[in-house]
Amino acid sequence: MTYSEFYRRSIADPSAFWAEEAKRIDWHTPFTQVLDDSKPPFARWFVGGTTNLCHNAVDRWLPTQADKPALIFVSTETDEERILTIADLHREIQRMAAVMQTLGVVRGDRVLIYMPMVPEAVIAMLACARIGAIHSVVFGGFASMSLGSRIEDATPRLIISADGGSRAGKVVPYKPLLDEAIRLSAHKPSAVLMINRGLTPFSSEPGRDHDYTALRASHLDAQVPVVWLASTDTSYILYTSGTTGRPKGVQRDVGGYAVALASSMKHIYCGNPGETYFSTSDIGWVVGHSYIVYGPLIGGMATLMYEGTPVRPDAGILWQLVERFKVTVMFSAPTAIRVLKKHDAQWLSRYDLSSLRSLFLAGEPLDEPTSSWISEGLGKPIIDNYWQTETGWPILTVAHGIDKTPTRLGSPGLPMYGFDVRLLDENTGQALGPNEKGVIAIAQPLPPGCMQTVWGDDDRFVKTYFSSIPGQQVYSTFDWGVRDSDGYYFILGRTDDVINVAGHRLGTREIEESINSHPAVAECAVVGVADPLKGQVAIGFAVLRDPTAAASSADRLALEGAVLAVVNQQLGAIARPARVYFVNLLPKTRSGKVLRRSIQAVCEGRDPGVLTTIEDASALTALREALVG
Ligand code: AMP
Repeated sequence: MTYSEFYRRSIADPSAFWAEEAKRIDWHTPFTQVLDDSKPPFARWFVGGTTNLCHNAVDRWLPTQADKPALIFVSTETDEERILTIADLHREIQRMAAVMQTLGVVRGDRVLIYMPMVPEAVIAMLACARIGAIHSVVFGGFASMSLGSRIEDATPRLIISADGGSRAGKVVPYKPLLDEAIRLSAHKPSAVLMINRGLTPFSSEPGRDHDYTALRASHLDAQVPVVWLASTDTSYILYTSGTTGRPKGVQRDVGGYAVALASSMKHIYCGNPGETYFSTSDIGWVVGHSYIVYGPLIGGMATLMYEGTPVRPDAGILWQLVERFKVTVMFSAPTAIRVLKKHDAQWLSRYDLSSLRSLFLAGEPLDEPTSSWISEGLGKPIIDNYWQTETGWPILTVAHGIDKTPTRLGSPGLPMYGFDVRLLDENTGQALGPNEKGVIAIAQPLPPGCMQTVWGDDDRFVKTYFSSIPGQQVYSTFDWGVRDSDGYYFILGRTDDVINVAGHRLGTREIEESINSHPAVAECAVVGVADPLKGQVAIGFAVLRDPTAAASSADRLALEGAVLAVVNQQLGAIARPARVYFVNLLPKTRSGKVLRRSIQAVCEGRDPGVLTTIEDASALTALREALVG
C-alpha cells in the first residue's frame, strides 16, 4: 500500500482505520465504539474499552522478554549505569506503586513528578499508570514559581522529587525550589516522596516528607495488580506554555494514547520488540513522555535514558551509546545537533553505528545546513518530525513503515495518518492552495493520542484551540506554514507569542510577568529573536519606573543582572532572556497593544515595515539605540 492510500483510509473512515490499529495493544475489555464525536470538538476514542498503559508497556512483555533490557540508564553526570530488565522494571514499579498507596494515593489522584533524569522518574510514571493515578511531570529546569502554579492547578496528593540533578557537572538542588513552590501554592500536597541521590543535602518537613529508600525497603515483595481503566480515563497532565501567563494542562487519555504510540512505533519509527530506542529528550517534555517512556516500552523496545549533555565527556558520547547499546532508532532535537556541529565532525564516524536505522529530529525548525551536516556525518537518514505537546505524536513527517516516501530538505513532510491537516487563511478561514502561506489547522476529530481537553477547563480547550479560525471549528496549531505542490509542508513560525528556545516552548507572557515583578520595572515586552545555536532566544525590553536608575552603563548592567536573577529564581534558567534592555517607551499601537513583531524585526536587523498604527515612532529608534548600547 502507498502512503497516500493509507492516509486517505485514515481520513475517510477513522473508525475502521483506528479499529485496526487498536489491535496493536492489549485490551482487558474490548471497546464497543471506536469514536464518540457526539460533542465536538471533544473526541472520545475506544469507548467502552478498558486497558492500562503500564500493562501494555511492561506486563505484556513479561512472558516473552522478562530478561531483556527494558530501561537502560546512563548518567555521565554521576558516572552511573543501570540496566533494568522487564522483570526488574515490573518489580520496581510495584514497589513504587505500593509506596504511593501507603502515602494515600488512589485512582484518579494526581501525582506531581519533579525529577531529574533518573530511573525512579520513569518508575514513578509507570507506577501511576498502573494504579490509575494521574501523573503530572514538571521539567526539572523549572523553578519555584513555574512549579508552584502547576502544583496549584494539578492539586496533587503526592509530589515525588529528588535532592537534585546535575547539569554539565554542576549539581542543581531541587528540594529548596520544591519547598518554595509548595509555599507559594494555595494547594498543599499531603505527602512528598524524596529520592535521595546523595548529591546535595536537603531539609525535610516531618510528617510531610518521606524517604523513598526506606519505604521501598518495606515493600520489596509488593504485588500491586494493574487497575483496568476506561480508555477515556485520564492518564496524565503535562503543562505547556501558551499566550497567557497561566500554563495549560494538556490532558491525555489512556486507550487512545496507547494505540497512537503503538501505531507510531510501527509506522513512523519502525522499531521492533527487543531493539533499543534512544531519545535524548527529558521526561519533563512531551517527547520524553511519548518516546522515552511509553512509546518504546509499548513497542517492546528497551529505552535508553541518558542524563548528561551531548558533549561530555566528549562530543562522541551519543554515538558511543548508540554503538554500545545497539540503538536502532534515535530521537533528538536540532539544537543538540547544532551543539555537536561546533565540534569535529570526526566524532560522528568514530563509532560503529551499523545498528542505527534513522535519526528523528523534532521540537523546532530543522535548518538545512544542520540536517545535511548530520546526515552526511552519520551516513543515516534524518527524519524531521513536526508535532506539539497537544498532539502527543507527529502531525507531519514521513511514515517509512508504510512506504519509503522521500524526505525533502526543510520540510518535516506530509500529514500523518489520522491528522486531517488544512492550510487556512487566518482572516477568512478559506482553504489555501500550494505555496500560499496560512495557518496550519487540523479538522475534527483529532486522532487518538491527542489532548482530551485542558485540565479542569473544557471551555479554555474550546476557546483556545478551536475558536481562532473564522467560520469553522478546527484545531489551530498556531503555526504558519506553506505546502508545496507535492503536499510537503514547511513550517514558518508561530502565529502567537509563543517562542521556541532550544526546542523548549516558552510563553513570552510568562517571562514578561516575571520581569514586571521586579520593583524597578514599570512594564516590559519579551520577544523571540533568531539565534544560530538555540533557534531563538528571548530578549526583553523594560521601561523603568525611574529611568535615572539606569543612567550609567554600570547601573544598567547591575539592574539587568538583578532582573535576570528574578526570572531565574521564579521560572528557571531556561526562561531567562539572553538580554534585557532598558528603554523609555515600548512601541505600541494607539490602542496600547505592544508591537512585538516590530520589536522582533528590529532585533533581527529586519525592516519593521510601515507602521501606520504606531503611537510614537520614536520608540523604534530608542529600541535600536538600546540594542547598540
Ligand atoms: P512543543 O509543544 O513544546 O513540542 O512545541 C510545539 C511547537 O514547536 C510547534 O507548534 C512548532 O512551533 C515547533 N515545532 C515542533 N516541531 C517542529 C518542527 N519539526 N519544525 C518546526 N517547528 C517545530
